[in-house]
Amino acid sequence: MTNFTETDFASLAEQALVRCHTLATFTQEPGQLTRLFLSPPMRDVHSQLEGWAAALGLETSIDAAGNWHAVRHSADLEARTLLIASHLDTVPNAGAYDGPLGVVLGLGLLEALGDLAVPYHLHVVGFSEEEGVRFGVPFLGSRALVGTAEPLLELTDAAGVTVRQAIGDYGLDVSALSEARLRGEVLGYLEFHIEQGPVLEADGRALGAVSAVAGQSRFNLAFTGKANHAGTTPMHLRRDALTGAAEFILAAETQARQTPGLVATVGFIEARPGASNVIPGAAHFTLDVRHAEDEVRRRAQTELLETAGRIAAARHLSLKQEVRMEVSATPMDGVLTGLLGEALEAEGHGGSTLVSGAGHDAMVTGTVWPSTMLFVRSPGGISHHPDETVLAEDVEAALRVGVRFLTLLAEREEGR
Ligand SMILES: [Zn+2]
Repeated sequence: MTNFTETDFASLAEQALVRCHTLATFTQEPGQLTRLFLSPPMRDVHSQLEGWAAALGLETSIDAAGNWHAVRHSADLEARTLLIASHLDTVPNAGAYDGPLGVVLGLGLLEALGDLAVPYHLHVVGFSEEEGVRFGVPFLGSRALVGTAEPLLELTDAAGVTVRQAIGDYGLDVSALSEARLRGEVLGYLEFHIEQGPVLEADGRALGAVSAVAGQSRFNLAFTGKANHAGTTPMHLRRDALTGAAEFILAAETQARQTPGLVATVGFIEARPGASNVIPGAAHFTLDVRHAEDEVRRRAQTELLETAGRIAAARHLSLKQEVRMEVSATPMDGVLTGLLGEALEAEGHGGSTLVSGAGHDAMVTGTVWPSTMLFVRSPGGISHHPDETVLAEDVEAALRVGVRFLTLLAEREEGR
């Protein structure tokens, strides 16, 4: 097995960063990076990727969902496929690394492998859509890859354009969408992604394998009391909806702090009528609850909703609650994540696995293929912001671990 002592990982890392910066210049909003699903600058991203892939002798294509593909075939007739993928769309006013880093690292790994034969096909995918910005629903790209995008075709964007029309307008053939579903045997899916959180940095670690993508539930809640004069209504006769909400917010924080791994957030609140001299008669707010284990999340949200009910009763408020979304946790594949752990250890990185609190394409691929993710430290924990960054030495470490993972996987496939 090659030991890659000749490989200049530092240069490959530098190249990956330069490539992220190049892709970040392709934007639909001058002066900032905004690149939504099937927007015009996605064409520039694709042609730029084509050039880099051509230099590696890869076979490239774009499927009907606008996903970009580059494949390196194995000479082995029995070979299965390893997918290395991430997304190419961005949030509005984004940073340069959320998404594209995973795609350029895929190409970087293929470059590091050189002409070393491995007993699996290597397939790099740049997903057309992950963020859910344009159509309000995320994962259009990865859902096309696993064959579950059809039900999304009639969704509309802010301009009333459907997914179906957007695909046609971009010059792709929507009738070929079913062919975007990946056929052939997939041995695994690997996604490199910036952590987008502060955990690795707080631990002093460059990299971490992901054990699961947390499940999440979102609720709309409303307390209704009675708006009244702020000067004339004594405290004991008030039915203040906003103080009820305040009590709930603190209760949610306390419960999340007491439950390992649980995060609970009230991220939006509105008090009505909203005047400094009027007792708030209504408070509308949201609740977002996440945990790696669905059972823990469900138990926590049941308790939180009971708490809201108790607060309402004690304060003579009425309570309305509605579930906005509920997504199960996606455990990453134990074997591949174990292999990633071995690769990390071999390259001198310790530490336990992390749970991803944010959603990722690996949630979609994880329903059909063994999937795993490697997180790269996010300095300052900053993401979805132009200040989002990544350290060159961490990217170099990710490439080293990636190559180690590919060689470990090759040994495993050979012994199959
Ligand atoms: Zn992302």
